[in-house]
Amino acid sequence: MRIIKKIDDLKKELFTLMGKKIGLIPTMGYIHEGHLSLIEQSIRENDINVVSIFVNPSQFGPNEDFNAYPRDMERDSKLLEERRVDILFSPDSGEMYPENFSTFVEVEKLSKVLCGRSRPIHFRGVCTVVLKLFNIVKPENVYFGAKDAQQAVIIKRMKEDLNLDISIKVMPIVRDEDGLALSSRNKYLSKEEREAALLMPEALKEANMLINNGLFEANKIREKIVRELKKNKCIKIDYVEIVNLKTLESLDKIDNNNTLVAVAIKLGETRLIDNFILGEI
Ligand code: AMP
Repeated sequence: MRIIKKIDDLKKELFTLMGKKIGLIPTMGYIHEGHLSLIEQSIRENDINVVSIFVNPSQFGPNEDFNAYPRDMERDSKLLEERRVDILFSPDSGEMYPENFSTFVEVEKLSKVLCGRSRPIHFRGVCTVVLKLFNIVKPENVYFGAKDAQQAVIIKRMKEDLNLDISIKVMPIVRDEDGLALSSRNKYLSKEEREAALLMPEALKEANMLINNGLFEANKIREKIVRELKKNKCIKIDYVEIVNLKTLESLDKIDNNNTLVAVAIKLGETRLIDNFILGEI
């Protein structure tokens, strides 16, 4: 595996691989099985696999966890090497955002709801860095996780709106044995917080069962999830929303083929998200 930190070096390396099918997996590192599931899919579908690790400052708000975000390059590169990733691209902030940088990509509307309410600049930062990575790597396929469902919906919108010749693949959520969706931020949780966090996947599982049994009134499902989450006082609910999977607009009636049920909570300073999807992003 080649570890590359400079954009020009990566472009030169990729130039020598012209004609090969390239898969890209953008990450912020602290690699876990969720990331690895995207990588494995990319390896199955492409000739050359590029993983980026970049804790992107422009997607963190001023009071968010940019500095505290877990980083472990040594462990990450070992894990990627074991999986036979070809290239690890790990630029520093100055490389991605040189002096006088001033162009940002904003996907309107979709970026302002759900996580966008409490993280107003988040998706602008995500789209900007993702488009930069697309332009640098020029992949055929790019892999994202359904855990960040809103992110996947927004990036697909950006792809359509900006006519990007890239295939966006969205892979299912990978969970720990206890049901908690894997996330680099789980590292922040105390034992008590982790226990409380489990109410989130449990509430979603129950909601999914109720829908399977024919309850399609969104407000009833929403209330049920809220009630479950309120069972633990550590949990601060950011949102529980049931929305159309394409427009992210609130639904009254759940559509079995086009619904996102999404939750965000805070446990102390740690913000966690989870969801389930009826249909396909
Ligand atoms: P991150 O490093 O958290 O920015 O995540 C990089 C990519 O991995 C994103 O596309 C995430 O949606 C995806 N991802 C993160 N956690 C999971 C998970 N538990 N299951 C599947 N994909 C995930």
